[in-house]
Amino acid sequence: MKPSSFDYHRPESVEEAVALLDHLEDAKVLAGGQSLVPLMNFRLAAPVHLIDISRLNELRSIGVSHEAVTVGAATTHSELLDHDEAASAVPLLREAERLVAHEVIRNRGTVCGSLAHADPSGELTAVLALLGGTVRARSVAGVRTIDAREFFVGPLQSSLADNELLVEAVFPRLPDSTTTAIREVARRHGDYAVCGVVGAVDREPSGTIGSARVAFISLAPTPLILDLADVVAGRSPVEIEKADVYDFVIERVNPSGDVHASADYRRHLAGVLVCDVLAAAS
Ligand code: FAD
Repeated sequence: MKPSSFDYHRPESVEEAVALLDHLEDAKVLAGGQSLVPLMNFRLAAPVHLIDISRLNELRSIGVSHEAVTVGAATTHSELLDHDEAASAVPLLREAERLVAHEVIRNRGTVCGSLAHADPSGELTAVLALLGGTVRARSVAGVRTIDAREFFVGPLQSSLADNELLVEAVFPRLPDSTTTAIREVARRHGDYAVCGVVGAVDREPSGTIGSARVAFISLAPTPLILDLADVVAGRSPVEIEKADVYDFVIERVNPSGDVHASADYRRHLAGVLVCDVLAAAS
């Protein structure tokens, strides 16, 4: 199918993009188009105006500081994947990007487009939630910072207002004592995960685990976070009982079934993948 007709706008600056978003009725931002265009082709979305930000160089940036990796809204998955400094500051970014779709999609699809799309099957959605990251949204009224916990409100639903442009995402660095890992099961490499887990494990100077938490991919309407302290804190990695962790997880998640997996299988995967992530990150 072809999309319904729309007016195409290519602003020359962020300021112009924000002004267009503010005064045009039924407008959508077009970044890499990897999610939006298929939705339009299937007539599941029919915006009257498209505002193309993909060529706004002021939004094409990756900043690495002592605190965080900050990714501008026109930055593609491939650019983040290839960025050595970002990978060394927040290793989960590269590990997660390796699992995002296929190269052609990563070459056009943007990191922030993925977050704005708020797909609970997106790897970066879970990474931002796990790290306690934020996004910055700009409108004619100014810039506001939105915590990941408040940003993802449901499947394909974020708390961005219609007149707001997501300008950057901030992925905080974790302390040196914290290690991270990501594991997922997908039917084929590059497909969305049937279920996935990203996790962070914090070690005490003695080597025991101080705290651990995970965020799930493709399990709940938003990237659910689970604190594992009750089953792992105070233990050394070799003392962790996998069966206890598995039971702890499956009692606390409540996935839905769909054509890709039954609810029970997804729950089982959640338990197994959390054990794998803990083993990899401990
Ligand atoms: P667009 O498609 O341009 O936009 C997506 C949505 O976000 C639209 O609603 C748009 O209006 C809005 N938007 C975009 N940018 C902004 C902004 N700056 N401010 C406000 N709103 C904005 N993703 C994964 O995470 N994991 C996968 O395994 C995966 N597999 C895929 C497989 C296929 C075959 C395809 C087609 C996609 C897959 N994706 C996967 C999704 C892909 O990662 C996203 O489509 C892409 O990252 C979205 O970014 P985009 O720049 O293309 O956004």
